[in-house]
Amino acid sequence: KPIMDRKTADKNAAAAGQKASSSKNHADPPPPLVPEPEEGGERYSIGQFLGKGGFAVCYEGTLARNGRVYAMKVVKSQMPQKKMEEKFRTELQIHSKMRHPFIVQFYRAFAFEQSTYVVLELCPNGSVMDMVRKRRYLSLPEVRRFMIQLCAAVKYLHKRFVAHRDLKMGNLFLDHNMNIKVGDFGLAAMILSDKDAKRRNTLCGTPNYIAPEVLDKSKGGHTQKVDIWSLGVICFAMLTGYPPFQSKTQEEIYKKVRNLHYVWPKDSDNNNHIPEEAKDLVSACLNLVDEERPDPDDIVEHPFFNMYDGCIPRQLDPACRFNKPLWL
Ligand code: ADP
Repeated sequence: KPIMDRKTADKNAAAAGQKASSSKNHADPPPPLVPEPEEGGERYSIGQFLGKGGFAVCYEGTLARNGRVYAMKVVKSQMPQKKMEEKFRTELQIHSKMRHPFIVQFYRAFAFEQSTYVVLELCPNGSVMDMVRKRRYLSLPEVRRFMIQLCAAVKYLHKRFVAHRDLKMGNLFLDHNMNIKVGDFGLAAMILSDKDAKRRNTLCGTPNYIAPEVLDKSKGGHTQKVDIWSLGVICFAMLTGYPPFQSKTQEEIYKKVRNLHYVWPKDSDNNNHIPEEAKDLVSACLNLVDEERPDPDDIVEHPFFNMYDGCIPRQLDPACRFNKPLWL
């Protein structure tokens, strides 16, 4: 049962966003017990440290009433930059409205002492980034499974006029069943019309995953199709272990993006054979012309998902974060 209805979650999210800019700064870890501010609100005991991002620190939080465990994202109320505050506010506004099996569930947000706490679905198995780092690259069945889940999440977002704009392996969290959970909505935007798309021409995203139209302001903005470009980058990176446009400097990355210059590894590299179907799917997503990129529905119909009788594992063992799974 959800611990809070959507309306209250929205209200709290908005209030927490406002509060975020008005309190004092602090760098200490959160207190062991965090209560929601309203009368009769829930209390959470803070547990294990989960990770640290650009401006948030994440801990496990146990709901005192029933022992359920969540991820508590803790954000200092006063952020060093206005831009960060804005990022956080959009994150709360958009994320709080999303509800999908492959998107990190947002439950509520509240302010306490000098911090804002965001209660999220716990993803105890790290991110696809961690997994690829440990494994070097993923097997074809795993890539298929993750891509299909990712497409379902992206289809859901795009249908609701949301562009995530920062899809990358580090933002794809893994739940206890090794299902993808898209997280970090800090750069997400609502794109309701062409006019909106035109206004949305701010440079955002992570260099390695950035779409060419985001780099070129004269093209007049960008749409949800930036996410499809990122899907291509993610697919390449899961298959090979490195992003396609990787370079030492940001300028070099951008140059490679604009020239669509990426190289697949040789079969002999790490003994990793990448089939033509996979390469074809990636090249469809990495199209310089954004309108020509496939929709999530087209992607899942791609022959890559039907090779070898379409082997897509229904379940993945969390052990495959460290070791290549054996298919029985
Ligand atoms: P930021 O927005 O500051 O980049 P993130 O959302 O990336 O913060 O979160 C920071 C870190 O906290 C992540 O890298 C991850 O280790 C951990 N984390 C975030 N959300 C969850 C979650 N739902 N479950 C488990 N760990 C999480």
